Amino acid sequence: MPTAPAVLGAIAEALLGRTGRVEGVTEPFPGFLDVRLRADPPPGGWHPTHELQFRVTPTRSRRYNIRTVDPDHADRIGLLVATRANGPGTTWAKNLRAGAETTILAGRHIPLRLPGTRRLHLGDSSALGTIDAHTHDRTGHLVAVEVPPAAVAALAQRWPHHHFVPAGPLPGDAMEHWLERAIDAGTLDGIDGALLLGHAQSLQRHRTHLLRRQVLTRRAIVTKPYWATGKEGL
Ligand SMILES: Cc1cc2nc3c(=O)[nH]c(=O)nc-3n(C[C@H](O)[C@H](O)[C@H](O)COP(=O)(O)OP(=O)(O)OC[C@H]3O[C@@H](n4cnc5c(N)ncnc54)[C@H](O)[C@@H]3O)c2cc1C
Repeated sequence: MPTAPAVLGAIAEALLGRTGRVEGVTEPFPGFLDVRLRADPPPGGWHPTHELQFRVTPTRSRRYNIRTVDPDHADRIGLLVATRANGPGTTWAKNLRAGAETTILAGRHIPLRLPGTRRLHLGDSSALGTIDAHTHDRTGHLVAVEVPPAAVAALAQRWPHHHFVPAGPLPGDAMEHWLERAIDAGTLDGIDGALLLGHAQSLQRHRTHLLRRQVLTRRAIVTKPYWATGKEGL
């Protein structure tokens, strides 16, 4: 529910809302904010990849997934927010300061059912935090993320085994070229599933590409759009 009448927002907030207190915000890589929050967990606790809705204005909310949960403090969570967009979600994240309070809507965590055991995790900047949460501590997965060119070097240093593809003027174009080359080079050999996250129109192109080149079957590919060209919120 990216935009809701104030009364509906108030009902959702009464049922699922909780206060998040900002512990700190840093910019670890150009174009990304690492947001640390403290909030009472819902039933079942906080989990990496947990989907949260933040009230970013009185009538608008935006979704962000948990990247990290502090193993020693069950109420401390971290998000990785990409700051390339120019809507209310990005403005909200850029204005967060330590000590500020924000409203989080969250239910019990429902993990995404993922295909395969050696997966391709592919997306853009908006998906990096979620991809990190999915692949952290697990080996054998292949990760490719389209990111702002200015961030490539720092990201590659932090995640040396991931493929960081410098974005061009249009979302998804650079990743299409990377996919073509990766398939030709055999980089995707042995992959038995894929999770595609991020820009809606690009995910469809990448999915079609994987099917056309017979890398994977339809059932082995899961897509989840996070944003779309010309659309506010998803
Ligand atoms: C389930 C789910 C989980 C998500 N998790 C995360 C997360 O963990 N981290 C994260 O950073 N984002 C995440 N997102 C995306 C996030 O919710 C917002 O869409 C994003 O922050 C942009 O919001 P906005 O209000 O600034 O822009 P909007 O008001 O949504 O859009 C304004 C304009 O910017 C464009 N736009 C939107 N996003 C981008 C982008 N990334 N690059 C270029 N142009 C863009 C839109 O097409 C539109 O024209 C998630 C989305 C969903 C649905």
